[in-house]
Amino acid sequence: MANPTGWKPTMENDAKPGAAAPTGAGLGGATRGLVYEEPLLFEHGSRGRTGVSLPPAPKDYDPAQEIPAALLRGTVEGLPELSELEIVRHFTRLSVWNHGIDTGFYPLGSCTMKYNPKSSEALARLPGFANLHPLAPPELAQGALELMYQLERALSEIAGFDATTLTPAAGAHGELCGLMLIRAYHEAKGNPRKKVLIPDTAHGTNPASSALNGYAVVQLASGPDGRLHPETVRAAMDEDVAAIMITNPNTLGVFESNIAEIAEIVHAKGGLVYGDGANMNALLGVARPGDMGFDVIQYNLHKTFATPHGGGGPGSGPVAVKAALAPFLPLPVVVKEGETYRLVTDVKERPRTIGRLREFWGNFAMFVRAWALVREYGPEGVRATGELAVLNANYVRARLKDTFNLPYETASLHEVVFDDKHQQAAGVTTMDIAKALIDQGFHPPTIYFPLVVHGAIMIEPTETESKETLDGFVAAMKAIAEEAKTDAAAVKAAPVRPVRARLDETRAARKPILRWRPGMKVE
Ligand SMILES: *Cc1c(COP(=O)(O)O)cnc(C)c1O
Repeated sequence: MANPTGWKPTMENDAKPGAAAPTGAGLGGATRGLVYEEPLLFEHGSRGRTGVSLPPAPKDYDPAQEIPAALLRGTVEGLPELSELEIVRHFTRLSVWNHGIDTGFYPLGSCTMKYNPKSSEALARLPGFANLHPLAPPELAQGALELMYQLERALSEIAGFDATTLTPAAGAHGELCGLMLIRAYHEAKGNPRKKVLIPDTAHGTNPASSALNGYAVVQLASGPDGRLHPETVRAAMDEDVAAIMITNPNTLGVFESNIAEIAEIVHAKGGLVYGDGANMNALLGVARPGDMGFDVIQYNLHKTFATPHGGGGPGSGPVAVKAALAPFLPLPVVVKEGETYRLVTDVKERPRTIGRLREFWGNFAMFVRAWALVREYGPEGVRATGELAVLNANYVRARLKDTFNLPYETASLHEVVFDDKHQQAAGVTTMDIAKALIDQGFHPPTIYFPLVVHGAIMIEPTETESKETLDGFVAAMKAIAEEAKTDAAAVKAAPVRPVRARLDETRAARKPILRWRPGMKVE
């Protein structure tokens, strides 16, 4: 056999006729070239092949004797046996099937998929940070503790709060933490409450975090302008409401301009105002939630502060609070005493703490990256981030608003939500448009969220994209809208260029095959 590893190189454009010509904007010329069909690791290699070279075992050596009999299995059949080169090629090929922020534009609304600077990566890999053991005594970890202390102060200042915990591992974990603080606050007053108010534009994690804290969720309808209105809040507000959870700007990209009045209504009845800070990118350096009446917010460092999202590393969801909530913050807390830093880990020192949310200090390498970004940008750079993020979203909005329907005319901040109303007549849906974008070399935007918009297409360019990239994206979106008019079937057949075309997403979600078994057949 000429091709022992089983991969099949194909010329992508020859192999898949019928694709709409890409605008070439997404990946430039990179959408042409070799595409490999990649078998599973188990389907590579051959018996006896190995990727390591070890000296042969002594003749009378029997490894089975070193393992307790109870743990010994019979023979294990069907494990892959591969050379080092086969393994390297396998994983390298798989890695280029994926689309990442380093490959191309990734305009997922609400997710803030911005560039992760390589300088931050280099700092996070400094041996003193990367190799520091989480149980190292504080005298050997002064630099790391100082960095945490400074980041906590910077995050408190940027959002206008008194104290911040870096512990939570993601945005949703931050929400959970924030609501635990709110619950502890009400319980400490001897007044546990039962409900949390959440507008209909909210991210699904908001009701989930409330429910996990034992609260009933009361959904509030936003107005025709996409905003929450004071009278809606007033009607729902009573002394059983622990908090309202608001994302500002909300997930329509619309600024909740009634926020100060809403906060007053909630505070007047003893409730607290929780801010879902996932959209902080829009406000950076320009406005502070702490000045708008929020009592607590979570940050998403992997969104706002350019730390990796997903595959590149874990998330991080610091929570910033007003002084009234500070005694309840989780452990550990970094404190500065004179010129020395220390971690408070003992409940006796913080009797009202909600306790520990996770092991050790949080996702420390993310703190290094976020700290590096804040220090590199400084106040002007932080402000420019917010301003450019809003400018970029509004540029996309202005250039696409005659092609795609804008369900809410209200001004956009850092993201813009369209829908598929203009394309529906041709039978082309948001899903089809998203799939067609893949052929153009772009990651699709967030779709079908927020739920208040039927067929939502939610685009968040972030500040890190150039005008050329945005122009390329706009050209691709317009080309798809044009094709929807002339050849709807072609749009509905997209994507045809990637290694895997349109997948059965329902089946993938309902019947996932997560484990390979010898001899298994997947049709
Ligand atoms: C991303 C996001 C969250 C959840 O954050 P994770 O870090 O993914 O857990 C919550 N709310 C909004 C509005 C978001 O965009």
